[in-house]
Amino acid sequence: MNKEIINNAIETSDDYLDSLRNRNLNVYYFGELIDEPIDHPIIRPSINAVAKTYDLATENPEIATAISPFTNKRINRFLHIAQSPYDVVMQNKMQRRLGQLTGTCFQRCVGMDALNSLFSVTYEIDAKYSSTYHEKFKNFIAMVQNGGFVIGGAMTDVKGDRSLAPHQQDDPDLYVHITKRTEAGVFISGAKAHQTGCLNSHWMIVMPTIRLGEKDKEYAIVGAIPTDAEGITYIYGRQSCDTRSLDEGDIDVGNAKYAGQEAMVIFDNVFIPNEKIFMNGEYDFAAMLVERFTCYHRRSYVCKSGVGDVLIGAAAAAAEYNGVEKASHIKDKLTEMTHLNETIYATGIAASYQSHATASGAYICDDMLANVCKHHVTKFTYEIGRLAQDIGGGLVATLPSQKDFDHPEIGILLKKYLKGRKEIPTENRVRILRLIENMTLGRNAVGYLTESMHGAGSPQAQRIQIAREMQIDFKKALALELSGIKNTNTDKLTDDITDYFARVFSPPEV
Ligand code: SF4
Ligand code: FE
Repeated sequence: MNKEIINNAIETSDDYLDSLRNRNLNVYYFGELIDEPIDHPIIRPSINAVAKTYDLATENPEIATAISPFTNKRINRFLHIAQSPYDVVMQNKMQRRLGQLTGTCFQRCVGMDALNSLFSVTYEIDAKYSSTYHEKFKNFIAMVQNGGFVIGGAMTDVKGDRSLAPHQQDDPDLYVHITKRTEAGVFISGAKAHQTGCLNSHWMIVMPTIRLGEKDKEYAIVGAIPTDAEGITYIYGRQSCDTRSLDEGDIDVGNAKYAGQEAMVIFDNVFIPNEKIFMNGEYDFAAMLVERFTCYHRRSYVCKSGVGDVLIGAAAAAAEYNGVEKASHIKDKLTEMTHLNETIYATGIAASYQSHATASGAYICDDMLANVCKHHVTKFTYEIGRLAQDIGGGLVATLPSQKDFDHPEIGILLKKYLKGRKEIPTENRVRILRLIENMTLGRNAVGYLTESMHGAGSPQAQRIQIAREMQIDFKKALALELSGIKNTNTDKLTDDITDYFARVFSPPEV
């Protein structure tokens, strides 16, 4: 990695943009090696979205910064280890605001959630095995906080045959694994799929993606790697309508400034030095890491309520430009969209308010409510998108191009025939409909819809977790008691009912 980057803290969005230059990343897009991702017109909007996380820290430090207990300095909240329920709640407020400001995925939450989950998991591995991962991890945290870096969390393996464990796969590389051990560290190979913001990060933390057994020991590896390390290849994911970012004008793209980013990351014997290894063979802690990471990350999806605010605003503006804003069905649809959007936010922020301390001292949100939040996100964004398209009308999908509007003859006709309210320029009407298209069918539908479905685990993953924690025997006992039926099955209640009571009935710490 560029030495200058290591020595100088990245504080502002300009610092951040500078830090991305002259890295030796091996990035492919459209079958071509990309020289400077920051100068690529399709990649740049995703970089702008991350840059906005630095802007918010400057403009609104209460929301987007915190004081680090490790460096005693003010740092970006994305690099902070939550010291209290307040810190966990503030993560959600920052995420909603950034969703509002960018209308897309701003990519930094994966790293924040990886740092927080690993903080407590490394502590617990050390407690069991007398290892030194936690101390090494704290040194890593202090380094990235001093540097002001963007951290990517690389969890999702490509997985091959889903019915087989990692060690049973025909090709061992279908899950990232250790290929060689030396005195100085380990080498890893494999691939991580749809990695959010990976090119826009300075460091990547590689983690296992599922519960592992004894035979999967070589897959139980957690380590931090500079994103420009030798042996890494990035293959950029296409987004629907991505080439509109190459268009001359800024109208057809819908949101010219911001977009998300996902790429496949391939590791070919990439070295991780000992001091950056935070799990090495402790397969019995893989499940704990995945569960804690997804616990944080599933309520991080309140980001979509911020993006939803933009879409609701776009639908309201479209209705106004058409002259129908007073129609009762329009008001009702906007109300429904808001209800769904706030339900996403409510469950996420409730999960954060119900945070509790882990053995390490770091706070973690409530797992049940985090899963309920993410499960809402898999559905409600689609319904909000449907209502936005309903209000926007067919033009969302049939508008002519900006070039037609700019044409000396047909442009005049288009401006005449696509006029809505007389005081609203036709261009404004087109711009707002293009934004709805962008968020529900175009580049940012990747973040608003499909990422909402599959990011942080697909819907079934949340249902499994909700089913695990739903305390059905306890609920049955409540019903039996009130209906006067003798309950002969009380032994089942002792299992994890204490945790349940602690979770639901402890007084709030915020
Ligand atoms: Fe953050 Fe949301 Fe993007 Fe995940 S999808 S990184 S939670 S903005
Ligand atoms: Fe995600």
